Amino acid sequence: MTVQINNSFISKNNFIYVYNRNVTLDTSVDLIMDYQTMSRKKFEIAGNQIEPGTKKIIYFPAPNINTQIKIEIPVHVFHGNQSGPKLFIVGAIHGDELNSIEIIRRVHEHIKIKKLRGTLITIPVANIHGVIMQTRYFSDRRDLNRSFPGLKNGSLSARLAYGLMKHIVSHCDYGIDLHTGSYGHMNMPQLRTDFSVPGNKKFANLFHAPIILDSKQRDGSLRQAASQLGIPLIVYEGGEALRVNELCIRAGVTGILNALHHLKMLNFSSSQMNKKSKSLVAKTSRWVRAPASGFINPVENIVSRLVKKGDILAYIHDPFLINPSSEIIAPFEGIVICQALKAMVTEGDAIFHIAIFKKISGVKEYIDEFREELIHQ
Ligand SMILES: [Zn+2]
Repeated sequence: MTVQINNSFISKNNFIYVYNRNVTLDTSVDLIMDYQTMSRKKFEIAGNQIEPGTKKIIYFPAPNINTQIKIEIPVHVFHGNQSGPKLFIVGAIHGDELNSIEIIRRVHEHIKIKKLRGTLITIPVANIHGVIMQTRYFSDRRDLNRSFPGLKNGSLSARLAYGLMKHIVSHCDYGIDLHTGSYGHMNMPQLRTDFSVPGNKKFANLFHAPIILDSKQRDGSLRQAASQLGIPLIVYEGGEALRVNELCIRAGVTGILNALHHLKMLNFSSSQMNKKSKSLVAKTSRWVRAPASGFINPVENIVSRLVKKGDILAYIHDPFLINPSSEIIAPFEGIVICQALKAMVTEGDAIFHIAIFKKISGVKEYIDEFREELIHQ
């Protein structure tokens, strides 16, 4: 069959057939090209263009510091050959929460660019000022995660937040924001998201975290700003500030691989993902506070443990060893999702964060199995 040049059509199954002038149509595979690949555009980000099927590091300008030294934030862009979701993963928005750097490094090892569908953008260090200073805050002493969506002519942190929203977040379909507990707080691996925001529940369930805390958004947080743009965003929390925690890193990596797989951006084998396919959802959580001041001695391995009402969580001793000791008692049943790690407490300090579940039976076994899986990965 002889056909004209430029005569092409798109079939129902999204393949485009390319004909050559005066050439007998051959039905061999090389004449059938994937329409999605052919039409795939370069990805544009902050004035940079990334070709389909390539990875590029771009240097995103952060506001200058007071010495006029330029600060740039490296952003990795993996632009797949085939169309698919656009997902960003951001780490160290709090400059002392550093597990995210290792989580993203390990995720990079799993990205096969030629097989990627969609576009993956990773930012291992968003708050570069805070990472340099080893502190949660930005160099203007503000919390970057309370500065979103930012302002073009606002404070230093608001300007960075504005740039991240304009050039990265607003171009994506999904976001993952990686955190740890704040300084002196140990978090068990968990997701935080607000189920009342469309898309968040479905997206969070792709991660297969042991626990999802369905929690309201904080004003000025990245997740609030993303949800205002209709972009589902989950916050992963695991470990503590300024420390490396292997199990929490593994849980973060595995969760991201799960999400990439279920979004059909990449295929992973079942051994690379969690066997647990559902997360436990807690609708409420409460902090338990120290009833007295003194030296605190928590019971062993309390984080991620199921505690019943009346269980002793910690003892508080008089540092001068004169007055009698007191106890911190669990006022309700739930899973300890965070522990304050300080040695000395004052009365009223929030010490244990407990997630409350509607149905508690099976929760302990579920979390134990989850931990075992991560240990033997
Ligand atoms: Zn944080």
